[in-house]
Amino acid sequence: MPTLEEARRLILSHTITLGTESVELLDSLSLVTAEDIIAPWNMPQCDNSAMDGYAVRTADCTPAARLRITGTNTAGVLSNISVEPGCVIKIMTGARIPAGADAVVPFEDAEMHGEFVTLKSPVGHHQNVRLAGSDVHRDEPVIPAGTVVRAPEISMMASFSMSCATVFRRPRVAILSTGDELLELGLPAVPGRVIDSNGISLAAMVKECGANIQMLGIARDTVTSHLEKMTSGLQADIFITSAGVSVGEHDLVRQVLTDLGVSLEFHSVDVRPGGPTTFGVKGNCLVFCLPGNPVASMIIFSELVKPAILKAMGYRRVLPPAVRAILQENASKRPGRIKLLRVRLESSGDILLAFSSGEQTTGMLKTLLRADGLAVLPAERSAVCAGEEVEVHVLSSNVLMQQEAM
Ligand code: AMP
Ligand code: MG
Repeated sequence: MPTLEEARRLILSHTITLGTESVELLDSLSLVTAEDIIAPWNMPQCDNSAMDGYAVRTADCTPAARLRITGTNTAGVLSNISVEPGCVIKIMTGARIPAGADAVVPFEDAEMHGEFVTLKSPVGHHQNVRLAGSDVHRDEPVIPAGTVVRAPEISMMASFSMSCATVFRRPRVAILSTGDELLELGLPAVPGRVIDSNGISLAAMVKECGANIQMLGIARDTVTSHLEKMTSGLQADIFITSAGVSVGEHDLVRQVLTDLGVSLEFHSVDVRPGGPTTFGVKGNCLVFCLPGNPVASMIIFSELVKPAILKAMGYRRVLPPAVRAILQENASKRPGRIKLLRVRLESSGDILLAFSSGEQTTGMLKTLLRADGLAVLPAERSAVCAGEEVEVHVLSSNVLMQQEAM
């Protein structure tokens, strides 16, 4: 049975980064650029004013100088106006610096008397001037291939008139719930039946990754139903099932996948919760069979499935972000396998404190609701004590923002 680490390595060794496509600029958000972006021109394109004020020749700006105002330059207008000796022009922020001028004096540092102006303080060469190319030079590589697109990348590309971006495409991820006890979300609750929450919670996690979702609904506990749904799931880039993989269970999920030609790489992982997780491959399709328990399926998604989705999308950093924290209470476990403890994080000065977020039996969904991360309790230990440092995999990058909002 692979350890969590070995399972992740094996999964990633089977994961290939998908092809590229051109998408509308806004749709590239959170995707990864597939080509270097080279600046096609200088930014700013021409010398322009950083202030509303007067464009001046610094040589004229002696303390007692009275300078004549001979015109105005506004942003967005390319005028041929130039500043002659002894003269200034009014200039607005972003407007091109006229020929002859080499600095801008803000309105508040000058006094206007009719068509003349006197300066209150000395002015230096290029003061309040944004020089052409001072931000980005023409031909400068500004966004290397492999960059995750955020708002600043979108801003840079838009500034260079790019309305589309070439990115690694979103994987298509098919999601299937299995089990006769399941009830479709939206139907009236029936005692003894379980509402299919895994389908939508896994879809939410897939959506957070930026991948496309194909909902396959529920496969009932018959070979025919499994065959039909799974045949269609295997057309996706990544196929995720939940339930029907517990030890000792009548094993339709694995059996039907094998019949459909999926090569199963492992049947369980040395971790708790989430032990019965199964992983297989057919052609270019990665298949993850997660346990039915909602907590276990979400934890394994974040530890093992998400890294594969991100790698397929061209991400280089695919592992859950890890921080070190001081455990605030004793935690016991069975020696021999890693335990992922749901914890709440609090900062205290320079260090992070990890508190258990509630009862740790796998059935407790509320404990996951309250968790900011998963503390990794090492396999060989039978207990980890309050005061010990642990590694915590952060579940959401919004954790610290959420703490501030409360
Ligand atoms: P299993 O892995 O089939 O043994 O299921 C373990 C537990 O997960 C049982 O309590 C199931 O009712 C529950 N479960 C299985 N599938 C789902 C699902 N799609 N949504 C919510 N709970 C589920
Ligand atoms: Mg079942």
